[in-house]
Amino acid sequence: MSRLMIIGCGGVASVAIHKCCQNSEVFDEIMIASRTVSKCDALKAELEGTTSTKITTAKVDADNVDELVALINNYKPEAVLNLALPYQDLTIMDACLKTGVHYIDTANYEAEDTEDPAWRAIYEERCKRLGFTAYFDYSWQWAYREKFQEAGLTALLGTGFDPGVTSVFAAYAKKHYFDEIHTIDILDCNGGDHGYPFATNFNPEINLREVSAPGSYFENGKWVEIPAMSIKREYNFEGVGMKDMYLLHHEEIEALAANMPEVKRIRFFMTFGQSYLTHMKCLENVGLLRTDAIEFQGQQIVPIQFLKALLPDPASLGPRTVGKTNIGCIFTGIKDGKERSIYIYNVCDHQECYKEVKSQAISYTTGVPAMIGAMMVVSGQWKKPGVFTTDEFDPDPYMDALNKWGLPWVVEENPVLVD
Ligand code: NDP
Repeated sequence: MSRLMIIGCGGVASVAIHKCCQNSEVFDEIMIASRTVSKCDALKAELEGTTSTKITTAKVDADNVDELVALINNYKPEAVLNLALPYQDLTIMDACLKTGVHYIDTANYEAEDTEDPAWRAIYEERCKRLGFTAYFDYSWQWAYREKFQEAGLTALLGTGFDPGVTSVFAAYAKKHYFDEIHTIDILDCNGGDHGYPFATNFNPEINLREVSAPGSYFENGKWVEIPAMSIKREYNFEGVGMKDMYLLHHEEIEALAANMPEVKRIRFFMTFGQSYLTHMKCLENVGLLRTDAIEFQGQQIVPIQFLKALLPDPASLGPRTVGKTNIGCIFTGIKDGKERSIYIYNVCDHQECYKEVKSQAISYTTGVPAMIGAMMVVSGQWKKPGVFTTDEFDPDPYMDALNKWGLPWVVEENPVLVD
């Protein structure tokens, strides 16, 4: 029995909250705290009567550590599940340290203002030292390791699907299938169709920044960076069919490279249709993906935030989206002196997700692992002092929970490999 505070009430949070309410044995009390309290109240009204989990709501500005501290001290949760935006990771971690509660999130820290000179100096040094230019990286949150260790608290980073489940798949492959893993290809396929000419499946600002940035992969101990969308492959996905996919930078590559140094190459591919890419290129060319503020009619506006206001709310895509996602990892390596390859993946159906929790599969595949990560921490199965990613614990209870809570996975031997 435990009390969990969930920060944020968007697409991913909504699924995680539904799942916590299905799992009242573990989460008997939850607080939904977010910037717009009316969204929290609406969700509470929808769920009350369907669950024995006691739900409270609150308004909070998660950029403000003092406000967070006051709210946490008042509610006294065992853990905080951060499902706001990556911009709030550090303030929420600070508040958890000050109040002595565990911390869980699904995406690593990203600066909201990438023009801030103090942030930029650190960023540019890191780009040179490590060789990838993504705006997000683990260094900011790994810098909290000692503080969490000293406080005897757990911070579990990145327990969505990717990152999150993909790294659990890697730990599972290592534990049960390989003596040595040589390559990991993470394949994220969305075969869903929402019927709009252009929309993003999760927060547009985070999503568009991610896919318009240069791609990179890790090979023989080094990062290799490539122009955005310049490595393309085709793959025939179970449940979806043949799709084009492109190599992207992705945060779990950084953690897996650090924690599994024996792996020679780690890549991440995501599927995109030609129409999505053409829209995105056009938006980028006209400046609508810019993240710095510009002056417009006497007001400061950030173009990508303005674009977010124009695009369909990802939460509204649920009823319209049909088709399936297929996300997983292909591993190659050695077992008992012989070469081996396996593919561990989950197939998730958009409409099935909508029937169950009124969300499409992208939010579902992130929200379910967010609940599972929180459960691993509060139940003590994944509780140890420090800051960790999901590949650093025993994968077995998490893998069992995926089967139980709606994301069953399969292991395929000798899959088609990506060249
Ligand atoms: P949404 O934009 O739908 O939701 C974000 C929520 O956070 C909103 O409710 C928003 O409030 C709230 N919020 C934003 N800023 C603040 C603040 N300062 N104080 C309090 N609340 C705030 O995003 P998603 O649900 O799509 O994504 C949530 C997280 O999940 C993100 O970090 C994203 O990167 C991550 N993610 C991870 C994936 C993975 O597989 N690991 C995949 C997809 C997403 P308001 O309602 O007022 O806007």
